[in-house]
Amino acid sequence: MTVLAAPDAQPKASLYINGVAVEGQGAELAVHYPYTGEVIASLREASTAQVAEATAAAAAAQPAWAALRPIERGRVLIRAAQIIRERAEELALLETMDTGKPIQETRVADWPSGADALEYFGGLAATVTGQMIPLGGDFVYTIREALGVCAGIGAWNYPSQIACWKAAPALVMGNAMVFKPSEETPLGVLKLAEILTEAGLPAGIFNVVQGRGAVGAALVTDPLVAKVSLTGSVATGQKVYAAAAEGMRHVTMELGGKSPLVIFDDASLEDAVGAAILANFYSSGQICSNGTRVFVQEGILPAFLERLSQRLESVKIGDPLDEDTQHGPIVSPVQAGKIRAAIAKGEAEGARLVCGGQGEGAFVPPTVFADAGDEMFIVREEIFGPVMSVLSFADEAEVVARANASPYGLAAGVFTRDLARGHRMAAALQAGTTWINAYNLTPVEAPFGGVKLSGFGRENSAAAIEHYSQLKSVYVATGGVDAPY
Ligand code: NAD
Repeated sequence: MTVLAAPDAQPKASLYINGVAVEGQGAELAVHYPYTGEVIASLREASTAQVAEATAAAAAAQPAWAALRPIERGRVLIRAAQIIRERAEELALLETMDTGKPIQETRVADWPSGADALEYFGGLAATVTGQMIPLGGDFVYTIREALGVCAGIGAWNYPSQIACWKAAPALVMGNAMVFKPSEETPLGVLKLAEILTEAGLPAGIFNVVQGRGAVGAALVTDPLVAKVSLTGSVATGQKVYAAAAEGMRHVTMELGGKSPLVIFDDASLEDAVGAAILANFYSSGQICSNGTRVFVQEGILPAFLERLSQRLESVKIGDPLDEDTQHGPIVSPVQAGKIRAAIAKGEAEGARLVCGGQGEGAFVPPTVFADAGDEMFIVREEIFGPVMSVLSFADEAEVVARANASPYGLAAGVFTRDLARGHRMAAALQAGTTWINAYNLTPVEAPFGGVKLSGFGRENSAAAIEHYSQLKSVYVATGGVDAPY
């Protein structure tokens, strides 16, 4: 067991505007290390005037950035990805301090996935072209243009990854961005801003403001903002979407879910159990796409629960800076309280606690409920913590109907060895992403986003380009103008 030394987490200043670290003029924002609760950094929110300063800097810098050859913009992002990889350990440590997630995870998932996005979109930059539409003499061509200033607003579970996933497609398309991370995890994105500057990004193209919801709301309604990309809860998404609508701003909404994971009796039990673990307990369960409704076909239910309980016995819970730790603390006491209240509700509603439970202090252990019913709170509502509900089902038609009977539609998973059934299920499940014999893999090459209340728009893949640009049609006449009078 190696416990790593905690790094100094205090940033130079709270905000990053026009290529410079500047102190916020708003309320204090203390950053707590989720494991110990101690204050590891003291920041200040942006004032309303500083939000306006950031969008003005972005608007002023954006036209020159958009006028560059796309390959030049791409080169900056690829260089930033290289710097992230060179500083991987330092960045993973800071992400662990900011989020409380085990170093085992932050080393492989958070910044590495952010670097993938910068590299992917950096490479894609020069391949984005328009269309030529022949009209028999005359013709139309299309130009994919930048939108202008984009606002990014992040959640606390993957703070640096979220910032990279939004910044990379926005920036390669010639936009500028003002990003507000979650008030719970404000540190990583300041590193991203510095790294982008070091990689050659012009001042003003990526700015950071800090603050709670009110600062986000000021950003969304800023007159210079053309697009808002939010990762957060459905309740916040509804507010932000409505506020954005007033100015007819473009939106991307990456919101919450209550995703189904369906395990048929012909599946590999070991793989299905492993996937159910990853689908519920990675990042202490604080993942939007988690498969928290685990539907297991009747015949294998006892074997599934037995093997799941066995495997969970060996989980190492504890200090996130201990390299052996697999399950860390919850991000904040408030969030831990919400999770505990949900667990208590599950017990009160009559679900059977198979393992886990309330836990202590910052920790909620991997918790499994069996005999859960579709109408229970723990099965209907997103808990955003390590709480799995196991439900049983008889056949395919029944499980499709029950899996789809949710207002959410972020993701879904199916485990079966029957190839045709796997594809039938993928087609029938209402979700932005469906995994067959896997769960929670989100490579940058694949579109990611939700349907129904889980959101709108797609991140990652070439599809994200469409959400950070607009199409202009140019009609070119090659003959005379035939006016009727
Ligand atoms: P949250 O909705 O409380 O906050 C998200 C962000 O919105 C924060 O930065 C917050 O300050 C800001 N905000 C709050 N009110 C605002 C307002 N009125 N206007 C503008 N901004 C405002 O979410 P959270 O608790 O930080 O994160 C957890 C949620 O995020 C879960 O529901 C989870 O499913 C979701 N999530 C979704 C994805 C995805 O990709 N679909 C990824 C991660 C998390």
